[in-house]
Amino acid sequence: SAAGLSRIGLAGLAVMGQNLALNIADKGFPISVYNRTTSKVDETLERAKHEGDLPLTGHYSPRDFVLSIQRPRSVVILVKAGSPVDQTISALSEYMESGDTIIDGGNEWYENTERRMREVADKGILYLGMGVSGGEEGARNGPSLMPGGSYQAYLNVEDIVKKVAAQVEDGPCVTYIGEGGSGNFVKMVHNGIEYGDMQLISEAYDVLKNVGGLSNSELADIFAEWNRGELESFLIEITADIFKVQDEHGNGELVDKILDKTGMKGTGKWTVQQAAELSVAAPTIAASLDCRYLSGLKEEREVAAAVLKEAGMQDVFGAAMPNIDKKRLIDDVRQALYASKICSYAQGMNLLRAKSVEQSWNLNFGELARIWKGGCIIRAVFLDRIKKAYQRNPQLASLIVDPDFAKEMVQRQAAWRRVVGLAIQAGISTPGMCASLAYFDTYRRARLPANLVQAQRDLFGAHTYERIDRPGAFHTEWTKLA
Ligand code: NAP
Repeated sequence: SAAGLSRIGLAGLAVMGQNLALNIADKGFPISVYNRTTSKVDETLERAKHEGDLPLTGHYSPRDFVLSIQRPRSVVILVKAGSPVDQTISALSEYMESGDTIIDGGNEWYENTERRMREVADKGILYLGMGVSGGEEGARNGPSLMPGGSYQAYLNVEDIVKKVAAQVEDGPCVTYIGEGGSGNFVKMVHNGIEYGDMQLISEAYDVLKNVGGLSNSELADIFAEWNRGELESFLIEITADIFKVQDEHGNGELVDKILDKTGMKGTGKWTVQQAAELSVAAPTIAASLDCRYLSGLKEEREVAAAVLKEAGMQDVFGAAMPNIDKKRLIDDVRQALYASKICSYAQGMNLLRAKSVEQSWNLNFGELARIWKGGCIIRAVFLDRIKKAYQRNPQLASLIVDPDFAKEMVQRQAAWRRVVGLAIQAGISTPGMCASLAYFDTYRRARLPANLVQAQRDLFGAHTYERIDRPGAFHTEWTKLA
């Protein structure tokens, strides 16, 4: 390689791009950077200098940027998903050559990646759609990376991504995911699972606060304690920290001053849409998405609360349930959270399996669980158990029937039912925990009332039914016989 050329390039220097570029430089790979608005190039150069004279060069035009990278070139793009990616590719690819690689690190819809893959293939350019998780901090210090697409393109950057990714005891949090847009799809489902985790944690908080009457400082201690056990994870850890932060504009903790309206960027919605497309039940993830929609109706909810109060509805038990055994409630909620979480992951993994079969991606679920153990938002100790479950049986129909998880689910079901029951009595909605429990109770039953639905369908639409005792399709003239 010619002297002075960079090993890799990165275009798009907002939060993610800037931090990932500095991370790559920090690992000793000389990097060229570029951004449409050039002030961000200067900002990044400034940071590279301050954070230890990192080997990073700034470029102010697509041509200078591309030509500053050694061949075969690898260029990471981290711009807003959608048409900005197309615009950036068209600006950069003009100067790229056959054998070079484009890596889109954004939260992109997987079919966009597959379209771009075909478009740049005309020029001989290789392509990866690489999900990046871990936010700002992860990008800088070690994210979880989910690269999918051209295997040759992956090999071109394997040494870099393995060093840049978060490191856990069983390796770097990166693996070649599969062909096509599989890397983007896996990142999308990761985000759907993240929606579920956040919803379930918020329900645990709601029950402990409004049924158990716990204060923020008690909640901080409980989440910190949970983070030392089977629930140990990034989201539990940050939740403990959130409860401790005081409001700088008034009395009390900041969490109580935050408007109860959730934002979103679309990956959760895509996950639920894909689950429906593939006929995979993902009720916990869907409940999380529904809750975000309902949270947005703040004004309507305020009206509803007033109307229903006028109509005679009081908070079923007022501020907190009387005579509640706090210690027992806390332990029950911990178990309910854990069991609900397993059901949510079972849904996410089964969605990935259905897509893998549809697209022949040949996804390795144990590996996916492994690369989510560090760097990403859903990182958690229990992902190691999921990894092991799929290693024991790569064909596992559901995490729920893995012998170890099955035992845990059964052990926790009494506590889980108590929490959901208490919440229902108290009028506190726990849609994620209820969805998980209903999923569990539906999946584990050898016989469901679907026989009646089939009878109805046959009565009004002659859709026919199968019998439990003999083969074939049957139709009955129900109304004549009734
Ligand atoms: P962002 O806010 O999504 O995008 C801003 C960047 O896009 C800027 O560099 C901007 O350039 C560039 N851009 C926008 N329109 C453009 C256009 N038409 N042509 C060229 N460049 C254009 O940035 P981000 O938050 O760092 O996220 C980048 C990607 O990573 C997104 O896909 C995001 O979903 C994903 N992601 C984000 C996070 C996170 O925590 N933020 C975590 C994981 C993944 P200018 O400066 O010139 O406007």
